[in-house]
Amino acid sequence: MQCNPLWPVGHRFPTLERDLRKDVVVVGGGMAGLASAYQLKEAGYDVALVEREEVGGPATGASSGVLYYGSGTNLVPAIGLFGEEKAGLLWKETARVISDIARMARAGKIDCGIRTCGSVMVAKNAREEAEIEREFSAAKRLGLPVRLLKGSEVHDYYPLKEFTSGLAFDAVGQVHPARFGAGVAVLEGLEVYENTPMLGWKNEGDGVSVMTPKGVISSSKVLLATNIEPLYGLADYFDVESSVILASKPTPRVRDVFPEEKIFWSMEDKYDLVYPRGDRLILELYALGEEEEKLRYYFPGVEFELEKQWGEAWAKPRDWFPIVGRLEEDVFAAVGMGDQGIIMSWLTGLKIPGILEGKGDWFADMSSPARFGIGKEGREVLRS
Ligand SMILES: Cc1cc2nc3c(=O)[nH]c(=O)nc-3n(C[C@H](O)[C@H](O)[C@H](O)COP(=O)(O)OP(=O)(O)OC[C@H]3O[C@@H](n4cnc5c(N)ncnc54)[C@H](O)[C@@H]3O)c2cc1C
Repeated sequence: MQCNPLWPVGHRFPTLERDLRKDVVVVGGGMAGLASAYQLKEAGYDVALVEREEVGGPATGASSGVLYYGSGTNLVPAIGLFGEEKAGLLWKETARVISDIARMARAGKIDCGIRTCGSVMVAKNAREEAEIEREFSAAKRLGLPVRLLKGSEVHDYYPLKEFTSGLAFDAVGQVHPARFGAGVAVLEGLEVYENTPMLGWKNEGDGVSVMTPKGVISSSKVLLATNIEPLYGLADYFDVESSVILASKPTPRVRDVFPEEKIFWSMEDKYDLVYPRGDRLILELYALGEEEEKLRYYFPGVEFELEKQWGEAWAKPRDWFPIVGRLEEDVFAAVGMGDQGIIMSWLTGLKIPGILEGKGDWFADMSSPARFGIGKEGREVLRS
């Protein structure tokens, strides 16, 4: 089922109805699976992707697709978690991914609402203001293009509210991710099968067979890009979160609230996002429960007439980094993409050919399931 009622995927892919032989089978047609299938094909592999339902379903279909840096934390906490060198690499590579996605969407004329509108992180009190200053200094040290805004400058972008300061990231973009992923699949002729669930896999002499209802795919390797499925023993290492998006009916007041197309987000761990999309106002929350109060808070004096609301669950790794790498000899995972799951999925795709070929780098080291003891001798990988 398509998750996004306002911007669904228009293209439909066939169902698998015969046996195939492939180099790699990718399981899951979200951003992680599509990006991986694309990069594997680019690297010369013969790839098929099987999706249980439709491309444009679960997390990628629901996602607001903000293209921000990192793997789900701000920069200062990322430095605390991963160290300055690795956090720096992560921020720089994700910065490159933001511009790659935008370039590809524009060059391919993919109908995916791509925009490089910039974002502003806003502080409402002295504690958050101090946090923003630390973020600014760390970003400057890495050479990232950020601007520190006074409260009055934030006010110019968001006149209905008063904030004490803000941090502007002008390179931040936004996309409808499932439309982008499906567009890439069509443009690049990826072999994608919808309504084709993987029912299980079987190790064969020189590879793996993936079973689907109407066909078996014999392959050298399988990549499981299934987000939150509680398979393989990996679910112990991430939390299942959910996010929800509220979209207003088209309103002429949109420019009163947001004179420019900017994305604003608050500084709590479970932050809120507010922005305009065309002539609609959008509010994104981690979960439902406080929506009335939050609508009043973010849009004071403006009637927010709800048109659509949608949401989905997604996996947030407990150590803030996706789980990408070998589970068994020929079985690999790309799961737990996290808060910045669109960018991290694309980065995962870029890294996946090297990971399948056993080449190490900072990303392969940080993302490996081996950090939990999985994929190493003596640790059984649960299948169901
Ligand atoms: C409302 C919302 C807003 C978000 N906002 C942002 C944002 O602004 N920026 C950002 O970067 N991230 C955001 N995220 C997070 C991001 O969208 C996710 O981290 C990312 O989409 C995960 O991609 P995925 O491919 O791992 O998972 P999914 O998109 O869930 O894809 C997994 C796919 O695997 C399929 N599958 C599962 N089991 C099988 C099987 N047995 N056989 C075949 N197929 C199977 C599923 O049907 C599904 O299509 C948001 C998420 C939500 C829900």
